[in-house]
Amino acid sequence: MPNTVLYDSGPHRNILIEDFGHGLAVQANQHLIVHGTTAMILDPGGHKVYNKVLAETMALLGKGATLKYVFLSHQDPDVVAATNGWLMTTDADAYVSELWTRFVPHFGLDRFVEQRLKGIPDERMVLELDGSPLRILPAHFLHSCGNFHVYDPVSKILYSGDLGASLGMDYVEVPDFAAHVQYMEGFHRRYMASGQAMRAWARMVRRFDIQVIAPQHGALFRGPMVGQFLDWCSELQCGIDLLEPVYDAITP
Ligand code: FE
Repeated sequence: MPNTVLYDSGPHRNILIEDFGHGLAVQANQHLIVHGTTAMILDPGGHKVYNKVLAETMALLGKGATLKYVFLSHQDPDVVAATNGWLMTTDADAYVSELWTRFVPHFGLDRFVEQRLKGIPDERMVLELDGSPLRILPAHFLHSCGNFHVYDPVSKILYSGDLGASLGMDYVEVPDFAAHVQYMEGFHRRYMASGQAMRAWARMVRRFDIQVIAPQHGALFRGPMVGQFLDWCSELQCGIDLLEPVYDAITP
């Protein structure tokens, strides 16, 4: 699919970059937020897509803007594996949960750039693009123990990382929530830590004005789909909620 412009007004643009994934690697979305002369790439992905995502990012930024941040929602390889490349070829700082700053370098970080991998404090933080704030919100245990989302108050997009991820359909936007559940249910039941974590997160994000929830895999939720997704999250049994019977069934 070609690039999808999610928002474009004045100095502010939100772009879903063309899908370069193929083969066995899980399909992944790369998102770019541009405000004025600065930009953030979110969850830029691993080595297989690095060259293409970098080239596309540079083409989208043109001469008018530079990459300021590489945002890493958590530590998985499809998110962080190419961090060294991004730090070597741009002047951006990379941000990941402070729980993961000593683990990401195991993917290989050149010592000249390792200081530019910064830790996100457990509670939250704000990063600015030319004075436009991006809220970095905690989403711990959904699924990683050190996990963050990005809320952009200009476009009203919540970038939700693996939460809301779906696999196996070919649309970019969810057209029918009930029909969509089958593409995300198995993943969420196994990867998301618990219903308690899901409900606490949903309560937090309901306080924000959200037009779009954009996950790192699969289709995004717009308009009425946002509320339906939050309701679904609030009710889902997942992770450790479902684990006890599995363990209890195991005998020597
Ligand atoms: Fe993940």
